[in-house]
Amino acid sequence: MLRHTYRYYFHILLFLLVLSGCKEIQVSPRQSLEEQQLLLGNPNGATSDINNPNNYLMQKPQFALSYSRDRGTPNWVSWHVNASWLGGADRQDNFRADPELPEGWYKVTASSYRSSGFDRGHNAPSADRTKTVEDNAATFLMTNMIPQAPNNNQETWANLEDYTRRLVAEGNEVYVIMGSYGIGGSGSNGSAKTIDKGRVTVPKRIWKVLVVLPEGENDLQRINSDTRVIAVDTPNLNSVRSDWSYYRTTVDAIESATGYDLLSAVPEAVQEVLESKVDMGPTK
Ligand code: MN
Ligand code: MN
Repeated sequence: MLRHTYRYYFHILLFLLVLSGCKEIQVSPRQSLEEQQLLLGNPNGATSDINNPNNYLMQKPQFALSYSRDRGTPNWVSWHVNASWLGGADRQDNFRADPELPEGWYKVTASSYRSSGFDRGHNAPSADRTKTVEDNAATFLMTNMIPQAPNNNQETWANLEDYTRRLVAEGNEVYVIMGSYGIGGSGSNGSAKTIDKGRVTVPKRIWKVLVVLPEGENDLQRINSDTRVIAVDTPNLNSVRSDWSYYRTTVDAIESATGYDLLSAVPEAVQEVLESKVDMGPTK
């Protein structure tokens, strides 16, 4: 009996040794998923410090974001989409409070936007994260949402999101950063500055920047002055046009409106060229 017990423990020990060996291989890739989402830079020095409540960095495997506790929304959300993020996982629709917010902070919930006239507008879209159920569910955390005018969400933004995945289907990979700023929008119940008893700020403007590369390796090093960059800045109004291309602008214009330095990991000389151009490429 005793001999059997020792043998039992010996096998457990062997198993643990093998497991720890595997884990070592898994945790030391060249670039973590968290790093991948923030490859083009942290635009405003967001930190994961609870004393920085309105520029609080949260890094998930699926996307990175700067959270504003007082606005109850992200300032921006950054992520990478290529074929490896797309698969057959169903839309989970499990909108929920983000349990990773610091203790004591108000946590926006699935029902915070109810009857507000604004959609729970994803920053990182559900359809960009369909490889696994877990990845898709991550996009339904309320830290990934803004109160978005329904037509902005369901038309303008949906068209731009579809176009992004079309670019992927055509053999590209895309680095996306989306954000919002200002106060006050107009949804299906008219104008509002805040919802959820003042705990969630309705943004005035919603912007997005896409950096498009042919699928490949060493993405940061491949960005040059010919790289396609699409920047849009839209009003958070239900009267918004459904054609996102009408709102194309420069990264420079978004930077001066927000005070951020977008694409900050890209060499300064390349940023200067890319950020001053308005994209004229295809839109469908
Ligand atoms: Mn949406
Ligand atoms: Mn910049």
